[in-house]
Amino acid sequence: MTLCSKSAVVTGSTSGIGLAIARALAKEGANVLINGFGDPHDIEKERAGLEAEFGIKAVYSPADVSRPDQIAGMVHEAQEVFGAVDILVNNAGIQFVSPVEEFPVEKWDQILAINLSSAFHAIRAALPGMKARKWGRIINTASALSLVASPFKSAYVAAKHGIAGLTKSVALELATHGVTVNCVSPGYVWTPLVERQIPDTMKARNMTREQVINDILLEAQPTKQFVTVEQVAALAVFLCSDAASQITGTNLSMDGGWTAE
Ligand code: NAD
Repeated sequence: MTLCSKSAVVTGSTSGIGLAIARALAKEGANVLINGFGDPHDIEKERAGLEAEFGIKAVYSPADVSRPDQIAGMVHEAQEVFGAVDILVNNAGIQFVSPVEEFPVEKWDQILAINLSSAFHAIRAALPGMKARKWGRIINTASALSLVASPFKSAYVAAKHGIAGLTKSVALELATHGVTVNCVSPGYVWTPLVERQIPDTMKARNMTREQVINDILLEAQPTKQFVTVEQVAALAVFLCSDAASQITGTNLSMDGGWTAE
């Protein structure tokens, strides 16, 4: 239990990587605010389960992170309930697959808002408290696609390259304030986000489901294995530890060798 006196906000944590990070932080003793969409019953079960299993305080915010006012409200709520936000994980993200000339303009705007601008708004809201306490950890979930590109994912690749730049810039601003800022960049992790893009990729590339999984997804990763949500969460927990206090401004790959090629 290394994070017992800390409190965390994890965006997009009703599913996939964000949920695994929230659970891993709670396991280390941190209070957690979980956020995202989903069945209210399932979300309440998860929230109550976190409190019961790990003996921490867990709250849920339904904030839509494409809305700056709702992001500020969510961070303030966590500050009110927990007394502080020490750890901010900007993880919410969506994907859309389409040739660029057919890419719906509203999807472009939505992806930039959720996958990139939301991190800026949450950082702005959480930072004054972190600076005042001279301790903070900001972790942005980027992607292998923050380092390399992939066709038919123009908005996602642009947003993820953007978040890698935002991470570096804010890390330098905060270097003497005890606040580290890093991004984690998974390759393919088997979550609903990946499952949902299979039908559109089948259409865009004229392939079967098996061909998309083996020839596109796993083809990208030299290990030929998906990354697990628990592995990404363990990296996030490490970044919150004292051992990681000198790791800042980095983009940490966990992609089975994808971006080494
Ligand atoms: P997921 O679909 O399982 O989870 C996404 C989460 O974001 C959900 O909780 C969802 O409700 C939430 N969300 C979506 N739109 C939101 C909004 N407007 N406001 C608030 N919450 C919102 O996906 P995942 O695979 O766990 O993805 C999490 C992050 O990891 C994303 O940023 C994604 O780009 C990144 N990532 C995923 C993979 C992968 O292979 N799965 C790889 C690299 C990076």
